[in-house]
Amino acid sequence: MPKKPVRAIFPGSFDPITNGHLDVIHRAMKLFNEVIIAVGKSPIKNQLFTPEERVAMIAEIIADMPGVAVESFDGLTVEYAARKKADVILRGLRSLTDVHYEFQLAMTNRAVAGIETVFVMTSEQYGFTSSTLIREIASLGGDLSNLIPNSVNERLQKRVKRK
Ligand code: ADP
Repeated sequence: MPKKPVRAIFPGSFDPITNGHLDVIHRAMKLFNEVIIAVGKSPIKNQLFTPEERVAMIAEIIADMPGVAVESFDGLTVEYAARKKADVILRGLRSLTDVHYEFQLAMTNRAVAGIETVFVMTSEQYGFTSSTLIREIASLGGDLSNLIPNSVNERLQKRVKRK
């Protein structure tokens, strides 16, 4: 049977995007025809970059990745997914701690909108990487070169210096 083209949306805060997120995106590129990285505009705690800045950083990184796009969105993820005619929601898993929260979210999204969530497990080396920790380490002057793309690291260093 021919495979049906699948469009996935990958919603998140991405403040900023990390190598862990990118690992999930690279894996998803093998599974789906299209992956749309969807940067949530809803205010998050300790926001470092505006949604527009996050989208711009991601756009630079994915420029040579076929089938991958980025945009920001407002409001409910399931409503955004319906507007985009997405087949699935993509989410990344790092550990069992993630499973607890993600399970609840996926069940709710399926109950309210009938949309499936597909989970992709990250490489072990990024199992402890989170945007929150990246922001904290950056503010304390730590070396993040193994955990985030260079272009993100440069902007992050400038931003924490300015703060
Ligand atoms: P949210 O605020 O919605 O959790 P994030 O930007 O923190 O947004 O994460 C978006 C998605 O990426 C989530 O599914 C999260 O579990 C996943 N994710 C975050 N960091 C990693 C990582 N290091 N490896 C794999 N997945 C990750």
